[in-house]
Amino acid sequence: MLRKNRLFTPGPTPLLPSAQTAMASYGAHHRTADFRALFTRVLTDLKEFIGTQNDVLVLTASGTGFMEASVSNLTSPGDKVLVLTAGKFGERWVSVAKAFGCDVKTVTAPYGETLSMDDVRKHLTPEIRCVYLQATESSTGVRHDVEAVAKLVRALPDPLLVVDAITGLGTTHFDVDGWGVDVIIGGSQKALMIPPGLAYGAISERAWQRMETTKSPRYYFDLRKERKAAAKAETAYTPATAMFAGLAAALDYVRQMGDGNLAAGRKALVENAELCAAMTRAGVQALGLKLFAAQSPAAALTAVAAPLAADSTTICKRFRDQFGAVVANGQAEMKGQLFRIAHIGYYDYLDTIGVLAALEHVIAEVTGKAVEFGCAVRAAQEAVVRSSEFGVRKGGGS
Ligand SMILES: *Cc1c(COP(=O)(O)O)cnc(C)c1O
Repeated sequence: MLRKNRLFTPGPTPLLPSAQTAMASYGAHHRTADFRALFTRVLTDLKEFIGTQNDVLVLTASGTGFMEASVSNLTSPGDKVLVLTAGKFGERWVSVAKAFGCDVKTVTAPYGETLSMDDVRKHLTPEIRCVYLQATESSTGVRHDVEAVAKLVRALPDPLLVVDAITGLGTTHFDVDGWGVDVIIGGSQKALMIPPGLAYGAISERAWQRMETTKSPRYYFDLRKERKAAAKAETAYTPATAMFAGLAAALDYVRQMGDGNLAAGRKALVENAELCAAMTRAGVQALGLKLFAAQSPAAALTAVAAPLAADSTTICKRFRDQFGAVVANGQAEMKGQLFRIAHIGYYDYLDTIGVLAALEHVIAEVTGKAVEFGCAVRAAQEAVVRSSEFGVRKGGGS
C-alpha cells in the first residue's frame, strides 16, 4: 500500500502548505523596505500570538539558541539560578546555565511527572537570580504549571522567570504579562507549522533592565543589539529571510482560524491540540496502553509507555516501515521505553484518527496479541463527541 511520509514528532511538525509556498517564492534582500515591512508585520503578529505587550525578538537559530540567549544575557558567572527540571529539556537548561558559569540549583521530578510546588517554594530563595523551566517537557509529555511557578517567583523581588514554551506556545493558554513571565520562548518548527530555523521570544522590562548589569559573554545572541536593530525594523545579522515569509503566512493562517482575530486563532489552535490530545489519550488507553505522563499530560504531545511485550524502538520502526508515520521514540535513557505522538500545530481530526488506527495494527503485530480493531478509533471518536466543542470544524482550508 502507498505510504505518505507524515511527521507525528514534537518538532519538526507538519508544514503548512501556504507557508511552504510563501517560503519558496521569497527572495528579498534583508536591508530593503520589502523585508522591513515583512519583519514589522511578523513582530506585531507574534506579540498577539504570544499574548504579550512585551518586546518580541526573532533569532535565526533553533530554539536552543534563544535558551542560550536567556542565560548569557540575563546572568553573570557565579549567579545562583534555579532550574526546574523533569526531563531532557529541563536538563538542557542545566547544561546551558553551567556552560555560562552559573551556580545551578535544581528542583527535579521523575521522568513522566510534574514538579511539586512545595519543592519549588523550598528552593526559591531570595538570592536566586533566574528561574528556568519548560511549559511542556517534550521528552516526557508533561505539562508544568507555569502560573503556579510564576506566583512563587513574583512573590520575590529579584528572580526573573524564563519559560521554554517551545512546545507550550500554541498548545497551552498563557497570560504572559498577567503572570509576570520575564522571558517566554517559542520555536518555528513547533506550533507555527514551518521548518526549523527561527526562535522567538518575548522579553519583559525587568529582563531588559537586568541586561544592563550582567557580564556573561555573548555576541551573536546579544539581545540588546537585536532590540536596537528591531527598533529600525531590522535584524543585527542576516536573518533567514524566507523563514520570515513562511512565519507571516503561518500567522495569517492562525488569524484565519480566529475569523480574522489572531488572539482568537491562537485560542482555537490550543483547543485543537487539546482535542487531538484528548482523542489520543482515550485511544491509547482503550488499547490497554499506559500514558507515560498520566498525572499532568501536555496537549503538545502524548507520551505512551511501551507495552511489556515490545519496546518503543520496534513500535516506532513499525510505524515508519508500514505507514510512513514518524512517531518519536523516547530520548536518551528513555529510548525504548516510550513513544510520542505530537498534536502541535498542523494536525487535524483525520491525522489523529489515522495514527490511532495505525497504532492498532502496530500493537497487534509487535505484541502478537489479539487487538479489537476499532477500539482506539472509537474511543477517540467518543472523546470528540464528549468535547464541548466539535473543534474539527475550525481551521478552514490551507
Ligand atoms: C524542540 C524543543 C526545544 C528546542 O530544540 P531545538 O532543537 O534547539 O529547536 C527546546 N525545548 C523544548 C521543550 C522543545 O520541545
